[in-house]
Amino acid sequence: MNFDLLHPRDQLVMLMQRVYRYGMTTTSGGNMSIQDENGDIWITPAGVDKGSLTREDVVLVKRNDEIEGRYRPSSEFPFHKAIYEVRHDLRGIVHAHPSALVSFSIVRKIPPTSIIPQAREICGKVGYAPYALPGSRQLGESIANAFRQGNDSILMENHGVVCGGTDLLNAFHRFETLDFCARLAIKASMLGNYKELSDKQVSLLKHKKNILPQFEPATLSNREKAIRRQITEIVHRAYDQQLMTSTEGVVSVRLGIDSFLITPTGKDRRLLDVGDIVLIHNRKREREKLPSRSVLLHDRIYCDHPQIQAIISAQAPNATAFSVTDYIFDTRTIPESYILLQDIPKIPYGPQYLDEEKISQAIRQNTPVILIENDAILTTGKSMLEAYDRLEVAEFSARSLIDANLLGGLVALDDIQAKELKVKFLNKR
Ligand SMILES: [Zn+2]
Repeated sequence: MNFDLLHPRDQLVMLMQRVYRYGMTTTSGGNMSIQDENGDIWITPAGVDKGSLTREDVVLVKRNDEIEGRYRPSSEFPFHKAIYEVRHDLRGIVHAHPSALVSFSIVRKIPPTSIIPQAREICGKVGYAPYALPGSRQLGESIANAFRQGNDSILMENHGVVCGGTDLLNAFHRFETLDFCARLAIKASMLGNYKELSDKQVSLLKHKKNILPQFEPATLSNREKAIRRQITEIVHRAYDQQLMTSTEGVVSVRLGIDSFLITPTGKDRRLLDVGDIVLIHNRKREREKLPSRSVLLHDRIYCDHPQIQAIISAQAPNATAFSVTDYIFDTRTIPESYILLQDIPKIPYGPQYLDEEKISQAIRQNTPVILIENDAILTTGKSMLEAYDRLEVAEFSARSLIDANLLGGLVALDDIQAKELKVKFLNKR
């Protein structure tokens, strides 16, 4: 789906609904705007339920300050305007008070964007604006000043966050990714100290291994069409279940011995369409499409493990919390977790970009799931649904473990109980 083709009213409604449904704003909080090529500003209205916003509710504030709309513009219009005045490269702004970012805002710390590889590039420079009265000229000045210094996202002291972007979708991605970093850091802090990536480690993300040679695909088989649909649906579902964010999460499904379908790089996961999925054949990519950065890792896993039919990697927040701390992800919580996940090894950061073989070797018959440090959880399966189920079970188990930690800690199934489960459900002695 091409978001750029949507009218500013529809862009604002679609993303405000997403912010609300993802739990990143309350009914009354938060606002968004777009400055169009005429210099006119489209903004969400004041005092309207964010959960049921319609396109007619959006307010247009023209360059000459004339207002068109059935409501007043958001009370924070002054700071939106102030930002556009100092940063002509920004065309979209998102402001809200999601609880994790508010936690950072009220302890006056900036969330760590080096906790996962892609966040620093997405969020841009994150600055800080001192407190001022909402809707006041002083708040506008304080925020505009922080944007003037080249920051793209600003943590607002005792208030929330405001993110600017080259368009509204870009601003939204910055906002959602920054919120994810905040949520992840909070989850991880319940387990211990979280680790951050060095500049050198973050730079590994810039590798160009996904620029494989291209090929012109033949006519699509019905099977391929069906798998494209399934991948698209599972990515939307993963997003709606908060197992993926707009900017992260990879799904691939095997098509044949030397071919598979994989999600693209750089596309919003919730807007993903069947035509965005990339066919890989003999280590070549479908013409003019860019597969996920981890395409060679997936290729290697399919090559080494004929039984694997699907691979998913995602930054599900609870499971990923284990990847950014030294805490062990012990799956001996309940039978379902141990049977589906078995033991989860933690692979150091780096091989996912440099040495695919190392990760592929860690996956075995009795190791269908791995954690990659400061990155993601990777699940495999004999079907896409099995890989997806493992991702969900991992996220549920991780959440139980984190919460259990606050209650006194896990009392794990013992060796005899674990062995009994292996014998009965995994045919191993
Ligand atoms: Zn606010």
